[in-house]
Amino acid sequence: MTISTQDLVAMFIAVADAIEADKDRLSELDGVIGDADHGVSLGIGFSAVKEAVAGLDASAEPVTVFNTAAKSFLNAVGASSGPLYATAFMRAGAAVKGKAELDRDDMVAVVAAMAKGIQDRGKAERGDKTMVDAWLPAAEAAAEAAQGGAGIGGSLDAAAKAAQEGAEATKAMLASKGRAARLGDRSLGHMDPGAASTALIIRTMADHFSA
Ligand code: ADP
Ligand code: MG
Ligand code: MG
Repeated sequence: MTISTQDLVAMFIAVADAIEADKDRLSELDGVIGDADHGVSLGIGFSAVKEAVAGLDASAEPVTVFNTAAKSFLNAVGASSGPLYATAFMRAGAAVKGKAELDRDDMVAVVAAMAKGIQDRGKAERGDKTMVDAWLPAAEAAAEAAQGGAGIGGSLDAAAKAAQEGAEATKAMLASKGRAARLGDRSLGHMDPGAASTALIIRTMADHFSA
């Protein structure tokens, strides 16, 4: 199995729909330790991405899908997740530049590039209670699953499980980056909204290519 530009566009649409369906929960999580806009911000961002990538020519390459996603997400989102995901999508595009179709190793590289891009852009380390705490374990799990012989769906499924575990683990963390850092130990006991949305995004990607 390989992933075409059209498959990638369909994946972005699935992610946009999943975020839209769950945006109230994400904003509620942000309401506890942030400013209650995370679901709304991602909803606006991914809806802009959905519209932009759906309008691409069928002959466009995967790198163009990611670059288009980056540009539209950045333009649409004012919150801190805007530049973080824009960087992630740009890096994902760079990881697959020149490819007409994506294979399992390309998708593993995409998840790794997104994780690294978010980390480089936001300067958060593991344990800072951010989306990095879901993206980094996801990237590691995808690589490990692929090394063990898993296909695209299996590798992304491993990434999705690790992202969910990473998101759960943020409950026990003290925020030291982003808005929640201002709360001090009052952020303890609550899941980071960016880690929660990461788990949703990667779960949707995995399910999309497992079906
Ligand atoms: P804002 O905080 O500007 O309202 P959002 O609500 O959209 O932005 O996103 C908040 C999420 O962004 C947090 O839950 C956290 O996961 C993530 N985040 C914030 N700052 C950083 C950072 N420096 N590095 C990585 N992720 C971050
Ligand atoms: Mg917020
Ligand atoms: Mg905000």
